[in-house]
Parts: sequence; structure tokens; C-alpha cells
Amino acid sequence: MTGDANAGAGTAAVLEVQGVHKRFGEHAVLRGIDLVVGRHEVVVLIGASGSGKSTLLKTINLLEQVDDGRILLADAEGRVTDVTDPRTDADGVRARIGVVFQHYNLFPHMHVLDNVTLASRKVFGMPRAEAEQIGLALLDRIGLADKAREYPDRLSGGQQQRVAIARAVATDPELLLLDEITSALDPQLVGEVLDLVRELKASGSTIVMATHEMSFARRVADRVVYLKDGAIIESGPPEQIFDRPERAETREFLRRLH
Ligand code: ADP
Ligand code: MG
Repeated sequence: MTGDANAGAGTAAVLEVQGVHKRFGEHAVLRGIDLVVGRHEVVVLIGASGSGKSTLLKTINLLEQVDDGRILLADAEGRVTDVTDPRTDADGVRARIGVVFQHYNLFPHMHVLDNVTLASRKVFGMPRAEAEQIGLALLDRIGLADKAREYPDRLSGGQQQRVAIARAVATDPELLLLDEITSALDPQLVGEVLDLVRELKASGSTIVMATHEMSFARRVADRVVYLKDGAIIESGPPEQIFDRPERAETREFLRRLH
């Protein structure tokens, strides 16, 4: 990794997005994205609907292919994988990244504990007893140990999203991608999910998340990245972006939110 002034201070880069372009037909959705995410850093993507936040997260997880540019993922030993190299094993990359989307995507036919332990058992070949021990400890940590044998439709939306997050971190991923994980929730359920993200940050997770929750972005982000029409307009600590943005476009975006 080349390292970058943008990366979190004193941290080695986990993720490096270099000059990424993506178009759908005639529509250029990502137009030269450069982003470096340091280990233990929490980067929050903000921007209007359609600005490319989800597409960017999907290119990192290989749910979308880039048209140009590179995405590098470094493990704890500093070994770098070019995610965008066609020879790279997509499943291998995905196994290193935890993902949670807007709509709870728990498997409806599996109880909570099976949802949480599935990847450990199937992708990493962990014995069921060991995976369940880890899974139950995780559920306990998020206050849902008593729901281990319940099916997802018996849980509230907030509980389902907390289980989805537990599932995403169960394999101890190097990077977590969270895409609008509270936007489908009733307002009174948003807090419990955001509290869990704050806990993950406190425990040292590396996170890239897209959100419309500006107050949360301010509290949890090490760095806020403002995207407009597929380009990064401004990036900086939350105090800069929210209190004294340097770019007129950022000021305009934030002004319109009020
Ligand atoms: P955001 O997450 O910031 O709301 P998205 O990344 O979802 O933005 O979308 C960016 C733009 O790309 C939007 O105009 C959207 O309609 C378009 N887009 C996203 N996915 C596809 C797709 N699979 N095919 C065509 N257009 C898409
Ligand atoms: Mg989106």
C-alpha cells in the first residue's frame, strides 16, 4: 500500500480505492473515486440518494465490477490483495469482508444462531460446537442470547439488524461494510442499532458505512466523505464536514437537509 495523507493517523491502510470508475450504460455512477481506509478507522459516506454510495460499497465487495481503477485490501500482516484483479477469488475476498445492507437479509428459514454461525461453519469449516459458542457469546453481547433459537420473523426490525451485524462480524472480518442499515427501521429502533455500531468501533473494527443519519455520522465517524454524482467532493473529520465545510457543494448539501 502506498499510504495516504487521507488515512487515519498512525494506522496502516486496510482498504485502498484507487481511481475507481463505474458506469451503468451511459450513466457514469462512480467517476474516479480515491479512498484510503486505515485499520480501526470508521469512514462514513454521505451524499444524496443516487450519488453512488451503495455502488461504491458493492465494488469493494465485488457485487459490482469496476470499469477502471483498482481496489486493494490488506490483511493484518500487510499482504495486499487486488480485489479488482479478475484472477482474484471473489469468494475469498468476500470471506474477509462483513456486509450489512438496508433490508435485513437474514435467512428466514434458519434460526438466529444458525444465521450467525453459517459462514463460520460453511466458509471457514469451523466445527458447529465452536461456531455456536462464539455465536452465543456474540448474541449475548448484543442482548439477544434468548433469541438464539427464534426465526427472524419473530424479531423486531432493530433486533433483526443487530443479528445481521452479529452475523457480519462472527467471522472476525478485516473490514465491515454497512449500507444504510437503519433506513428501513422505525425511528425508535434506530438507536439500538447505532449503539451496536459504536460498540464495534470501540472494539477496533474497521468500518465503511453509508448513512443518512448525520447526527450518528458526527458521533461515530473518524472521517466523513461527501459524495456527489459519483465523485468525492470533500473528505475530513466530522467537525470539518459538519461545522466548517470547505466546499460550497458540501455546505449546500447540508443546508438542504435542514
Ligand atoms: P446511493 O447509494 O448513493 O443512493 P447508488 O449507488 O445506489 O446511490 O446509485 C447510484 C446511481 O446508479 C443511481 O442513479 C442508480 O439509479 C444507478 N444504479 C445503481 N445500480 C444500478 C444498476 N444495477 N443498473 C443501473 N443503474 C444503477
Ligand atoms: Mg444506497
